[in-house]
Amino acid sequence: MFDKILIANRGEIALRVVRACREMGIASVAVHSTADADAMHVRMADESVCIGPNPSTLSYLSIPAIVSACEITGAQAIHPGYGFLSENAAFVQVLEDHGIAFIGPTAEHIRIMGDKITAKDTMKKLGVPCVPGSEGAVPDVESAKREAAAMGYPIIIKATAGGGGRGMKVANNESELEVAFRTARSEAKAAFGNDEVYMEKYLQTPRHIEVQVFGDGKGGAVHLGERDCSLQRRHQKVLEEAPGPVITAEQRARIGKICADAVARINYIGAGTIEFLFEDGEFYFIEMNTRLQVEHPVTEAIFGVDLVREQIRVAEGYPLSFTQDDLHLNGHAIEVRLNAEKLPNFTPCPGKITQYHTPGGLGVRMDSALYDGYVIPPYYDSLIGKLIVHGRDRPEALARLSRALGELIVDGVDTTVPLFHALLAEPDIIAGDYSIHWLEKFLAKKFG
Ligand code: ADP
Repeated sequence: MFDKILIANRGEIALRVVRACREMGIASVAVHSTADADAMHVRMADESVCIGPNPSTLSYLSIPAIVSACEITGAQAIHPGYGFLSENAAFVQVLEDHGIAFIGPTAEHIRIMGDKITAKDTMKKLGVPCVPGSEGAVPDVESAKREAAAMGYPIIIKATAGGGGRGMKVANNESELEVAFRTARSEAKAAFGNDEVYMEKYLQTPRHIEVQVFGDGKGGAVHLGERDCSLQRRHQKVLEEAPGPVITAEQRARIGKICADAVARINYIGAGTIEFLFEDGEFYFIEMNTRLQVEHPVTEAIFGVDLVREQIRVAEGYPLSFTQDDLHLNGHAIEVRLNAEKLPNFTPCPGKITQYHTPGGLGVRMDSALYDGYVIPPYYDSLIGKLIVHGRDRPEALARLSRALGELIVDGVDTTVPLFHALLAEPDIIAGDYSIHWLEKFLAKKFG
């Protein structure tokens, strides 16, 4: 059993973990940069340690500072949240060497899934359906041309070390291929320090469907259905829902079992998300995230489980507290990501919150670290909160979202709230009829 957990993160996710710890009777340690001394996660945790100056490379990404904070406070385990060090195998290796427990998978699993070619290869061997594509890395333009001719255009070139939608380029024909290949390579080099790329068939109008899995590290695993995260801007999710509006119970059971079996076979421990593109009734694996996702609350809502609590328990060595048969999907949940950004260009809008009022009532959850008078620093990402609603069915969830957005007050900075009001008036959104390209087209039409 852990007595004390250090949370190597900030903002709403750090607060999310503090809440789980408190309910489990575990003390929590917040870490923070100098800019975050007054942040809500610092105020709510039992203890806090300043780990460095504002740039995240010197604080939230500083492995020595975080390990020292653990040693000073006597925390036995670290919860990484998402982003920052959550998928950093070297960090997990350091913790393993220091005898500090990591609330997440092993360094080896993070390494396998962090390299997209190795991840795809591993998943293929485990029986998970993948997007048709190159066998491994594509070394040069000539090979790219040969592979593309064989699989047929359009194709997408992706960085092996990719993340956050960077280093991806589409080519519709051979004349576009050369530029796409070179641009993807140089973007990958600049963003990840690794210019290795691979190629996939570019699917035209897929949905982004991801399956939540949970492993006990001893060959046992379950799935908790899927989330539809097709509404994306620049490959970044904006709104997520569960269950997927177009996924049938049969499809859910089929892909869920494939995913649970795959992670069970590698003795995966903790929460994981297996991401697919879904087109014409078929699932195509794109990547696995070896951490808790931003959008995990929609899954918690429909299954009535606390995923952070479960992460902590399996890290302590307990078995999962539910079996597949215990998990029954109930109703529909939607999450919107509230960013401090100015429309139409989504320009980050840090600054002081002059008034803040959270919506409430049946089926409404607000995960946010905002408070009246809080000053959003300019150094980190612009997510200021997540509004999650749960209803008996999708229409009820949509009505509840509209109602809750109407109650929300965030004054002092611009936010993405008007975007969600606009989306809720769109017939395609009401019908659940959208692919991964829908939002970009909508934004172009609306704001051109
Ligand atoms: P990242 O790790 O950078 O987020 P992903 O592999 O998860 O990269 O892809 C991010 C998004 O890019 C997907 O959700 C989808 O919108 C788009 N995408 C990726 N691969 C393909 C593909 N083969 N065809 C069409 N779209 C794709």
